[in-house]
Amino acid sequence: MHDFNDSLSSSHEQFSEDLRRCIAFHGHICPGLTYGYLVSKKATELLGLRHSKDEEVVVVSENDTCAVDALQVLLGTTAGKGNLIINNYGKNVFTAFSRETRRAFRFSRKSGYMYEGEHKEEFEGLEAAFVEGRATQKQRIRQKWLKTLDLLAKPFDTVFDTKEIKWSEPPYAPLASSEACAQCGEMTMATKMVEGKDGRRLCIPCAQLLGL
Ligand SMILES: [Zn+2]
Ligand SMILES: [Zn+2]
Repeated sequence: MHDFNDSLSSSHEQFSEDLRRCIAFHGHICPGLTYGYLVSKKATELLGLRHSKDEEVVVVSENDTCAVDALQVLLGTTAGKGNLIINNYGKNVFTAFSRETRRAFRFSRKSGYMYEGEHKEEFEGLEAAFVEGRATQKQRIRQKWLKTLDLLAKPFDTVFDTKEIKWSEPPYAPLASSEACAQCGEMTMATKMVEGKDGRRLCIPCAQLLGL
């Protein structure tokens, strides 16, 4: 039997090359990654995006779930480059900006998910076990697998609401010099430092330890 949770599983051959790249990066396939994949594809289509080398594409994600890994792989909006902004409100909402076309789209997941695949009875049984907290690890993986296939089969507009929003330039990643914390001596971005009463400039953890 295949381990559906394995990023190298042969069961993934049915997926697009793009989705397989997301799985390889993320480590497993799951509904969260699938949401990110679907949004990335739609944003690419609507905004005519190319993989972002610098900060020409920006995504604001309102959650820090598995979905953001697909955005990093497919759009090149990454945590390190600063063009992936995570405002973690726990909302399944993503806004994609193109600085080149000065357009932006907001994607918000619709409520009322309904499984429509061919294993309806099995899926409902797994859901019930999940909700009641008695699902085994194997059942959880199977439930995620079925949901993923179902999400991939649905028209995008039944999963997400899409809205073009008024353009406003998203911020560029902040650049600042580093200096040594007066307490621990470790190099710290100048804009992140806290000034103590005595004028000493401290890193955040040191300031917290000193009760500042
Ligand atoms: Zn995941
Ligand atoms: Zn320090």
